[in-house]
Amino acid sequence: YGDPKEHPQKESYHGYVNTVGPRSCYDESKRFAEAYTYTFSQQNNIDYRIARLFNTYGPRMRPDDGRITPNFIMQALKGQPLTVYGDGSQTRSFTYVEDTVEGIWRLMNYPQASRQVINIGNPEETTVLEFAKKVKEITGSYADIEFKDLPKDDPVKRKPDITKAQELLGWRPRITLDEGLKRAVEWFKQLQ
Ligand code: UDP
Repeated sequence: YGDPKEHPQKESYHGYVNTVGPRSCYDESKRFAEAYTYTFSQQNNIDYRIARLFNTYGPRMRPDDGRITPNFIMQALKGQPLTVYGDGSQTRSFTYVEDTVEGIWRLMNYPQASRQVINIGNPEETTVLEFAKKVKEITGSYADIEFKDLPKDDPVKRKPDITKAQELLGWRPRITLDEGLKRAVEWFKQLQ
């Protein structure tokens, strides 16, 4: 959905994406994949299902992939400052990997999900600054929080409307951010 102007985001929302910027190839590649899937299905009369995911996190992420979860957890465990971009007021809806997988599994297997686009994300919306504080609390770290420049086109807010997933798949996330972060931290600890 890019930097959405509708909040929370329903599947019917077409998003708000800059086609010329540092995030464009990432955002547009996902949008193109949906367009391609739809057209391929129309031309060849085959089934499809489209999952729209929201900030999946958990064990087994690459510690240096640059995203918020590995960055903050690794920084906290090493006692290095947590790098908050901008003022940290931007929000995300972090979804624990097991919840994401369960949602995708149902989407792929339930006949009523045929040719549907469905948000698979946790509607528990959290600011980046709150996320940093939670990571510090769970790791017991005394690391500082350091504010850095906000990357261009960084989405201001993101939160899925999951009515469709609830109605069609009987799916909703089970793992709270606190619980998911605890599990993720335990996993990242054994990398140290
Ligand atoms: N972010 C941050 N510090 C970091 C990494 C990310 O403040 O070290 C912020 C980033 O600016 C964004 C949010 O965390 O607002 C999520 O970033 P990520 O790259 O994990 O995923 P995105 O949702 O932007 O694709």
